[in-house]
Amino acid sequence: RMVSPAPVSPKEEAIERALRPKLLDEYVGQTKVREQLEIFIGAAKKRDEALDHVLLFGPPGLGKTTLSHIIAQELGVNLRQTSGPVLEKPKDLAALLTNLEPNDVLFIDEIHRLSPVVEEILYPALEDYQIDIMIGEGPAARSIKLDLQPFTLVGATTRAGMLTNPLRDRFGIVARLEFYTAEELTRIVKRSAGLLNAPTEPEGAFEIARRSRGTPRIANRLLRRVRDYADVKGDGRITADIANRALTMLDVDPQGFDVMDRKLLEAVIHRFDGGPVGLDNIAASIGEERDTIEDVIEPYLIQQGFLQRTPRGRIATLAAYRHLGVTPPQSGDQ
Ligand code: ADP
Repeated sequence: RMVSPAPVSPKEEAIERALRPKLLDEYVGQTKVREQLEIFIGAAKKRDEALDHVLLFGPPGLGKTTLSHIIAQELGVNLRQTSGPVLEKPKDLAALLTNLEPNDVLFIDEIHRLSPVVEEILYPALEDYQIDIMIGEGPAARSIKLDLQPFTLVGATTRAGMLTNPLRDRFGIVARLEFYTAEELTRIVKRSAGLLNAPTEPEGAFEIARRSRGTPRIANRLLRRVRDYADVKGDGRITADIANRALTMLDVDPQGFDVMDRKLLEAVIHRFDGGPVGLDNIAASIGEERDTIEDVIEPYLIQQGFLQRTPRGRIATLAAYRHLGVTPPQSGDQ
């Protein structure tokens, strides 16, 4: 999928790393989050303390991992990176925690997927920089307390609502990342084009930006595909026309929607009379996981005003009918 939320290959991951801004000043958009972090990081450094624990949430590809690296860089400390599903046993987390140096950053991606036993270890670690671990087995087993160095946990998740309350309560800084504007994404595309040595006209950058679902990861990915197209079908320059032709070929429509976006809107309109329809029915109808719909597909459709979430289910808006060229039902019909 062109707009698939996660890096699709090791090669793409390497390119992403190369395109990642390293400092807060280079991090485009998310003004509120950036301003807050600047102050909190400055204060922590001044007092030579660990920064408060940070929870970052928002759809994939908006820059949570990038921001966690920037936080460590700005604090001048090491970053250790892991993810919820990788930490299977309490001792996996204990090993990471006991190896941290003072004020280090521990980044846990998909933190909502921590197992309950691992999460238990985390509570005293976050609160008092201490962990309880079991030594030995059977009747000889006993629990000992270990002191940890002060550290900062940066947790990332697609939806803050998926965290347990005790975990969420232990984050002093909670930041929600928003979709980027076309103007912000244009700046990101121009910067990436520079790093990739891809000659790009401002209008070409804008065309890619406005069709990237408000998401930097998608903008960078589309840029690379448009560059391929420009090299083969043009003279290598990324113009608005080349970008438009390449994106049309890739089934990214003028609104930036891809096949799955359109499938979802079509299902709601044609099979469920425009809604309201429940998530499970949509999932079954378009053959997509419920979680993917909730985390990846629908947030952008909702933010753009094509879909509404109501207590009775999802509803297609007039904009959705218009976008698909379908005549909306007369008011009163629904
Ligand atoms: P997430 O962890 O939220 O899924 P990432 O931090 O991996 O997202 O970001 C995906 C890619 O998008 C990164 O490689 C980075 O180059 C780019 N990116 C994300 N946020 C920004 C930003 N604010 N400014 C510039 N590039 C960004």
